[in-house]
Amino acid sequence: MQQIQTVKTIAEVRKQIKEWRQQGLSIGFVPTMGYLHEGHGSLMEKAKEECDRVVASIFVNPMQFGANEDLDCYPRDLEADTRLCESIGVDLIFHPEVEEMYAEGFCSFVDMDGLTQELCGKSRPTHFRGVCTVVSKLFHIVMPDKAYFGQKDAQQLAVIRRMVKDLDMDIQIVGCPIIREEDGLAKSSRNTYLNPEERKAALILSQTIRLGEKLVGEGMRETKTLVEAMKENLSTEPLARIDYVEAVSMDSMQKVEKLEGEILVAMAVYIGKTRLIDNFMIRV
Ligand code: AMP
Repeated sequence: MQQIQTVKTIAEVRKQIKEWRQQGLSIGFVPTMGYLHEGHGSLMEKAKEECDRVVASIFVNPMQFGANEDLDCYPRDLEADTRLCESIGVDLIFHPEVEEMYAEGFCSFVDMDGLTQELCGKSRPTHFRGVCTVVSKLFHIVMPDKAYFGQKDAQQLAVIRRMVKDLDMDIQIVGCPIIREEDGLAKSSRNTYLNPEERKAALILSQTIRLGEKLVGEGMRETKTLVEAMKENLSTEPLARIDYVEAVSMDSMQKVEKLEGEILVAMAVYIGKTRLIDNFMIRV
């Protein structure tokens, strides 16, 4: 097996990709912001299964952070990330500096209406423009056959699917299930912000997801009743502050009254200062 390479420039990525393409190899791509955990690992494993070569990017993208968000303290650990990638058999890590991705004078953006204004878009109005712009750039740099995204960020996955369709990008988007800690908390690089008391309190998210799944399983079909029950459960945790709990149509991210078809039930909740997200999908 080839040893893992880490490169910092677009030119180096392109050179390697060209070589692989000349050998007729397929390429899988996993974009990340680093501080990797088993959630990211599951995407890389899937890519490894399905593609001849796997590229992971590690880039904390300033454009997707709002002014008062956690860009400056976002956790980073390239050594540990490299070990995880190596253990899975990732072939290439692209770890650019901000200047490599956004050269002086940068002023082109990829933006979207509709899907990006709901859910997380309400409290993070510029977030998805940053995501779409950086993911488009990364797609142009890596030119993968397949790219892997987690259902953990369900709205992001829907936005990327839409972008690829609308802009005729010839890349298959693969959605992967949410990986959780043993006690249920969805794995996230941001869990590291939680102190021990907050870490316990954060369990209210996955508990509420399970409650929602149970209620739908028992036949609940009114969005309002479901959302109220979930909000009530969240409010039993004093450290939790709800940003939103909503049920939306999976493709359009628009609110639904009835839980029918392909529905995403998603929430964002602050535990102390840390904003956590979780969700489940319904197909009825
Ligand atoms: P991030 O580094 O947070 O930008 O995440 C990079 C990719 O990993 C995104 O596609 C996320 O949806 C995915 N991801 C993050 N956490 C998880 C998780 N717990 N389970 C599955 N995928 C995840």
